[in-house]
Formats: sequence, structure tokens, C-alpha cells
Amino acid sequence: MYVAIAVIAAAASLSIWQASSAEGQRAADAELIDYAAGRNVFAERLGRLAAEMRGGGPGSAEAANALRQHLTESRALALVFDPTLKARLGRDVARGTAIGLERWLAARDRLWHHAEVVLARVDGHDPAADAASALVAEADIGAAAARALVDDLRRLSQARSRAAVAWVRGGGALTLLLLGVLAFSVVEPTVRAVRRQHGRLADQAAELERQALVAERTDNMVVITNAERRIVWVNDAFVRVTGFAAERARGRLPSELLESPRADPATVERLLDAQQRGEGASAELVIRSADGTDHWVQIDLQPLHDRHGTLTGFISVQTEITALVSDRLKTAALMAVLPDGVVVRDGEGRVTAVNPAAERMLGLQRDRLVGQSVDDFGQPAVRENGVAFEPEELPGRWTLRSGIGRSDEVLGLRSGPDGSQRWLLVNTEPLRDALGQLSGAVSCFVDITEPRRLQDQLATAARTDALTGLPNRSIVLERITRALDHRRRHPGYGFAVLFMDFDRFKQVNDTHGHGVGDELLRQVAQRLTATLRPGDAVARVGHEQRTAARIGGDEFVIVLEGVRAEAPVLAIVGRLIEALNEPYVVCGFHVHSGASIGVVLDPEADATADSVLRDADTAMYEAKRAGRGRHALFDASMHERVAQALKMETELRQALRARELSVVYQPIVDLADGQLRAVEALVRWQHPVDGPVPPSAFIPVAEDSGLITELGLFVLQTACAQLADWKRKLGAQAPQRVGVNLSREQLRQPRLIDEVRACLEDNGLEPRELQLEVTESLAAQDAVVLDTLAGLRTLGVSLALDDFGTGYSSLSCLHKMPIDTVKIDRSFVADAEGSEYHRVVIQATLSVARTLGMASVAEGIETDGQAALMLALGCQLGQGYRFSRPLDPGALTRWLRAGQPQPQLLPETAPARS
Ligand code: C2E
Ligand code: CA
Ligand code: CA
Repeated sequence: MYVAIAVIAAAASLSIWQASSAEGQRAADAELIDYAAGRNVFAERLGRLAAEMRGGGPGSAEAANALRQHLTESRALALVFDPTLKARLGRDVARGTAIGLERWLAARDRLWHHAEVVLARVDGHDPAADAASALVAEADIGAAAARALVDDLRRLSQARSRAAVAWVRGGGALTLLLLGVLAFSVVEPTVRAVRRQHGRLADQAAELERQALVAERTDNMVVITNAERRIVWVNDAFVRVTGFAAERARGRLPSELLESPRADPATVERLLDAQQRGEGASAELVIRSADGTDHWVQIDLQPLHDRHGTLTGFISVQTEITALVSDRLKTAALMAVLPDGVVVRDGEGRVTAVNPAAERMLGLQRDRLVGQSVDDFGQPAVRENGVAFEPEELPGRWTLRSGIGRSDEVLGLRSGPDGSQRWLLVNTEPLRDALGQLSGAVSCFVDITEPRRLQDQLATAARTDALTGLPNRSIVLERITRALDHRRRHPGYGFAVLFMDFDRFKQVNDTHGHGVGDELLRQVAQRLTATLRPGDAVARVGHEQRTAARIGGDEFVIVLEGVRAEAPVLAIVGRLIEALNEPYVVCGFHVHSGASIGVVLDPEADATADSVLRDADTAMYEAKRAGRGRHALFDASMHERVAQALKMETELRQALRARELSVVYQPIVDLADGQLRAVEALVRWQHPVDGPVPPSAFIPVAEDSGLITELGLFVLQTACAQLADWKRKLGAQAPQRVGVNLSREQLRQPRLIDEVRACLEDNGLEPRELQLEVTESLAAQDAVVLDTLAGLRTLGVSLALDDFGTGYSSLSCLHKMPIDTVKIDRSFVADAEGSEYHRVVIQATLSVARTLGMASVAEGIETDGQAALMLALGCQLGQGYRFSRPLDPGALTRWLRAGQPQPQLLPETAPARS
């Protein structure tokens, strides 16, 4: 803009300069024109004077003087104007456009010459008429030349003033142009800026007006003070609420007007401090109005500054919050009275409020909580299962993040004064402002430490065997599952499961009562734990873990974790069997017991805890079958056997009902004369599909399943009925006695005695006509069995010790047994001919038996040689294919009728069935 103005000023001054120089020239030109015009007059005057002098009249002298004067004057003027004229007209003269000047100069020179000639003639008093005539003639020419000069000068002056006018016009146009540019580039934006500024100022003015209106009309009290804190302005609301008129307030300190004795001095102090420092502040305060009522207000104080930054005063906006404070007090009372802990957080997770119950439950004072971001209540929190909470998952934080409430979250804290674990049941709820925006969260919690402790106790109880204190079945399943998992993840890891069953536990229970049984189980548990305890004499196997558990009745399970090889496991098994076999002293009784142990080592890949336990049970069953106090290692084929046993059990049950069972009788003869003395009843099963099933296959199944009681009774009744029948039909030829085999389970039933008695009575038999056969392993140990046997003997029934030589008991025990007959096992008879040892044992047995008054039977005699040897060794009676296979009643009758006192060798044919 300044450049434009400078250019315009230059152009204007140029125009002015041009105008003034044009004026100067015009004046100079006018002077020259006057001078030229004067030359015309001069020439004409010279002509007139010359004409006078030509006449030579009286005025000639006067004319000559005038002539002289004019000539001098002309020469003087020429000196002044000639250079000017030449300068002025020189260029035009050269161009030939101004011929007047040369004509005039030439004419003037000639005028001057002729005038001088005239004057010289006058002075010389010579006649001057001709010279004067010449001068007259020259004067006319001179006048014409002077006029031509005037014309030239006029023309030139006109041309010059035209040019000057053109210059001035050009300058004006330029100025105008520049003014236009200036208008567009500078003035227009300036105008616009000015207009904008004006608009802004108008807006500001309106805004100020509005603000003033708001300040005037708002319900909040507005007070403006000066730098000395004296009131300069108050709004209507102030007047309304405080009751102080604006005029009364002006010039006063707010504290003078509004101070209430109930105001918190610390807050007042703080506000004054802020003002002293020229800073803003906010606070809640009680003020007192003119009528003496108190109001709670929220004060917001802001400093005011002028444009140089100097403090000019304060504006304070005060909001009436009396109702809010009462609400708050109500809430506080509610919080204080709540038995549940309450913690309120703002949107950033900072605690804004806690109640006394929360302080108590968290074991933290208010000031340790309020203002802090304690999502986890200031200490590491754990979940119900003891795992630490992920910070993001803590209920409070979770709700703040998601805006969703959470309920019944269990949170564990170490917050007791003694650092004891506390359990809280936490509910959280998001806090929203009136517009639904998430503004915080509130947590409410109850202390469930005590209920949980009870619950834990119950849980522990549910996982512990109350009697022994050992873990129970569920723990065993857990451990096995864990071991299986571990093995899946760590190939090379192995474990073993030992399943134990106590051999004589039921007996102890039956004989001595449950108290003793329970005590026995406790002692068993102690032995198990002691045997498994690390550092015990038991071979240590790596870093294994051993868990002994009772899973029911007399069944115990041991999980050996971290073992793979068979040898160390079997070492532990051996050690256990040995330890458990030691006699027990229970409530003053000496009890012998022992365990059969089934072992599962390194189960199949797809095994489950249940299947492992079942397999161990199966192996235990096999161990038991193999004899007491043994162990068996599970292998897959056991399943097959178990499955078959199960199938057989079902079929046997049906067979009992469908009368597929029958009884055959094998003669027992006097070895000396071959006479029939007795028969042994042996059960037979004709399976409708599979044909005859050997007793060795189904008797163990019947024993294990309990069916043996029913089966045994069937055999007993059939055999007794048969003997009665024979006695009726054959008279003296009939067998004198029938032998019936009894299983252990049958001997455990005290009612057996009554059944036997009833059976004898029903069939009209003498007790001595019945011999019950029991195996030696059976008769040897069991107190209940011994009782039954004694009962049977009291009845008058005779007892035979079956399969003698196969069991454990030795000859020395024979005298302790309540038996009448010893039946020497078939295996001894078979080996006797070829083995001196067997002969000696048989001989010794027979001699002991004889001494004790017992009869003896040699079983399984198949050859004459065996029969002869047994007789020679001192055996009275014999039984075996040499004499007869077991026969059905009809066949036996025929055998007798055929007069079979003579031993007969029978072909290998199955006996005919009745
Ligand atoms: P056990 O009591 O030792 O019966 C004798 C077994 O030897 C019978 O086998 C009989 O057929 C067989 N035997 C007899 N003489 C000879 C011979 O010269 N050579 C050979 N190789 N064997 C001979 P069975 O009938 O198969 O019975 C086997 C076992 O089944 C019996 O052995 C007995 O322990 C049991 N048993 C059979 N019937 C019953 C019963 O009704 N109740 C009970 N509890 N067990 C029974
Ligand atoms: Ca027998
Ligand atoms: Ca036998």
C-alpha cells in the first residue's frame, strides 16, 4: 500500500511540476511574443521616423534623436533576447520550421545599418533623404519579418502548450490508473478487513451483552471483586440468595458480608490463600445470607487480568448445593449403616468413597483407599482356585472397561490384621451419569471367609476317607487323571497304580465286630503310609510321588507317580505285601491279614482314570485267584478273562434256574477189597450251546459272584436226596456215605449249619452219612470258617480235608484241624510211583492221619500200580478213574448192579446223564 501511495505521490508531483514548467514556458513564450511584436512596432516606428527625415522638415532633428534612441534600445533588447530567441527557435530553425527568426535577424541588421547610415548622414549634416528612403523601405521589410517572427513564436508556443497539455493529461491518467490499482489491491481488502473487524466487534459486543445477561439472569451467584478483593459487581442471583442489595455489597469484602460461623475455617483459609497468590480455586463452603440462614455453596473462583496481565480482580461463581449436601449426608449415613462393604470409583478407577464396612473387610484405612487407583483393594487378589487375578479381570476394572456389572465374583485377599486370607463375594455395577455416560463403578462385597472355610472343610471331608484320613476315591481318580495328562505331555514319564484288597477283612469284621474292623483298617492305612514314606527302607524311585488312598471297604489304592520300570514298582509291591502281612494287634486281638495287589504299570494311551482303576482291580482279582498275599501285573488278556467270567456268571445264573446243572457221583472204594465205601458228589453243567462246562471253569466264577451258595445248596440237597434214594433202592449195596464239596464262601455263611441239618432231616439221613470236603488252605486260617466247621462237626457231620499237599499247611498243622478224613491230592498220587520224595510225604501224612484217628483217601488213582502203591503205603481208601469216573445215579446203580466190587478201567466216556 505504501508503495502504491509513493508511486501516486510521485506521479502527482510530476504532473504538478509539468504543469508549472508549462506555465513558465507559456510566460516565457508570451514575453518573446511581446518582444517580437515590439520589433514590429520598432520597425514601423523606424519607417515613420525615416519618412519624416526623408522630408527634411522641422522635425527631422527630433526624429533623428528618436531614431538614435530606438536604435540603442533595440541593440540593448537584442542583447537580452537574441540568445533566448536562438535557444528557443534554434531547433526549429535547423528543421526549417521557423524562418521568421532568420528573416528578422537579417532585416534588423539591415534596419540597424540603414538607421546608422541615416544617423551618420544627419550627424555629418549630409543629405539624408535617400538614406532615409532606403530606411523606409527596409522598415517595411523589417516589420514584415517581425510579424513573421511573431507568427513563428506563436505557432511554437501553441505547439508547446499542446504538448504540455498532453503531458499533464498523461500524468493525470497515470495517477488515475495508480489510484485504481491502489483501490483494488489495498483499499478493497482493507475495507473488507475493516468490515470483518467491525463484524467481530459487533459479535463481541453481542456476546458481552449476552454474558452480562447470563450473569444477570443465572441462578448462580456471580461476584466480581477488584484486586483488593472488594466487591465491584454482583448479579441478581446474589442479591436474591444473600438478600444483600448490590449497592450494599459494593466496596465490601465478601467475607464481611457472607461469613458463617459454620464455615470450615480451613476452607476459608484456602480460598484466601489462593486469592493472595492470584490463583483460582474451588471449594464447598457454608455462607450466611442477610436473614441469617446458612447455604452450602460450591464456589468457583477465577482471577481476572487486564491485557498486560496485571491482576485486576476475581470473578467468583457460587452454586447453591444445600440440597446436594443433604443428599450426600443421607448417602453417607446409608453407607455407614450398610453391613456390606462399598467402594465407589470414578471413571479413572480412583476410589472416591468407601464405607466403614469396606475398611473393616479390606483391613485398610479410608485414607489408604480414597483417591487411590486400587482395583484389587490394594493387595494381590486371587481367584477362588487360588490363581492370581489378571489385573484387567479384577471385577472393578472389568466393569469400568466393559460397562457391564459383575456378580458373585469370589475374590481372595490377604487382608486380615494378621495377614490371614479373606474371601469376598463381590458385585460390581457401572455408574452412569444422567446422559448414560460411564462415569465410574461401585463395588459391593460381603465377607465370605467363614462360610468358605466351612465349605472348604466340607470339601476336604468329601475328599478324605473319614476312617483312615487317607484321600478317597475322588482324589485317586484325580491323581490318575493328572498322571495321565502329564504322561501325554511328557513322553517318558510313567506311573503305576496299585490296587489292594485285604484277604481276611470281612472275616475280622464278622468275628470281632466293626470296631475291630475299623481299627484294622486304620492300622493298615498307617502301614501303607509308613511304607510309602520317603526315606523309608522302601527303594526310592526317582522323584516320584506316592499317594495311598482308601477307596472303599478294604480296598486301598496307591498311585506311584514318576516310575516307569517294573522292577522298582515290584520292589515296592513286595515291600507292601511283606509289611501288610505282619500280624496285627487290634483291640487286644491278634489278627492275621494280607493283601492281594493288582498293579497297572504304564497304562494304555487311551486309558482314563476309571479304566486304570478298573484294570488295577482286575489285576488284583487275578492276584487273589492265584492265591492270597500275591500280586499280579495287569495285562490286556485279563480283560478277556474278566469278560468271560462275567458272561459265565450270567449264564450260570440262568443255568441254576433252568436246571442245567446236575450232580454226578464218583465212587470211593476200599483199596484192600475194592468195595464201594462212599461217593463224592461232583456238580456238572450241561450248557445248551457250549455243551458240558468243567467245574474248574465255573466253580471259581460261582465263588466270586456269590452264586456258589445257591449252587452248593443245590448239590447238597441233590446229593442227600440221591443217597436216600439209593438207600431205599439198593439197601446194603448203597454207598455208606456221600461226600459234598464246600467252598470258602459257603463256610462263611453261619446258616450253612442249619441248611445241612435241614437237608439231613428232610432226607432222613444220619449226619455221619454226609462228609463235607473242604480244602486245606480254607480250613487252616479263617476263624469264621473254623467256627462253622466246629458247628458242623457238632452236628455229627464228618469233614474231609480235600486236595491235601497242594496248600501251605504242613503236616504239623494237621492236628489243629477239625477233620475226619485226609484226601491226598491227585498230583501226589500221580508222582508217587516215580518220586521217592512224594512217597515219603504220602507215607508220613498217612501215618500222622492214622495217629490222629483220621481216615485217608488217595485221589486220582488211574492205574493198578498206583492203587497197589497207595495200599502198600497204608492208605485205606481210593478214588479215581481206575475204579470209576464220576457217574450219574443211573450209571452208578448199573455199576453197582453189575457187581462192581472189582476195579474196572473205564474208557474215556462221559457219564450218561440222568
Ligand atoms: P475235587 O474235589 O478234587 O474233585 C475231584 C476231581 O478229580 C473231579 O473233577 C474228578 O472228576 C477228578 N478225578 C477223579 N478221579 C480222577 C482221575 O483218576 N484222574 C483225573 N485226572 N481226574 C480225576 P471235577 O469233577 O472236574 O471237579 C473238579 C473240582 O471242582 C473238584 O475237585 C472240586 O474242587 C470242584 N467241584 C466239583 N463239584 C463241586 C461242587 O459240587 N461243589 C464245590 N464247591 N466244588 C466242586
Ligand atoms: Ca473233593
Ligand atoms: Ca480233591
